[in-house]
Amino acid sequence: MRFSAIFAVFTLISFLLISCVPPEEEPDLTTEEKISQINEWLPDLKMELAMDDKYACCLQEGCNECILAHGSCPCYNNLQAGDPVCGECYVGWQQGKGIDNDFTKDDVKLDTEHAH
Ligand SMILES: [Zn+2]
Repeated sequence: MRFSAIFAVFTLISFLLISCVPPEEEPDLTTEEKISQINEWLPDLKMELAMDDKYACCLQEGCNECILAHGSCPCYNNLQAGDPVCGECYVGWQQGKGIDNDFTKDDVKLDTEHAH
């Protein structure tokens, strides 16, 4: 009696373990889910890149244009050097979202010949 109870528990545990194995393929996400996933990742990504000195943006929220295009953002350094910034940063400054009070929107130049 006791043995079969232990056996039943063991069977139950192994069944649970097997059912916990993750499926091989990621479930298909809807477009909405993908977008919310990206929006969840972006702030973390910006933080990680910033700690690696690869992300120095001049906007309060930090631009997405540079991160998606080349995985880093030099816009704040560009701003300080008097060089043009990316389109998103330029527009952000025109909307008063710049991060540095030493500059005004008129100091910000748009990078119209963005090339890598
Ligand atoms: Zn930028």
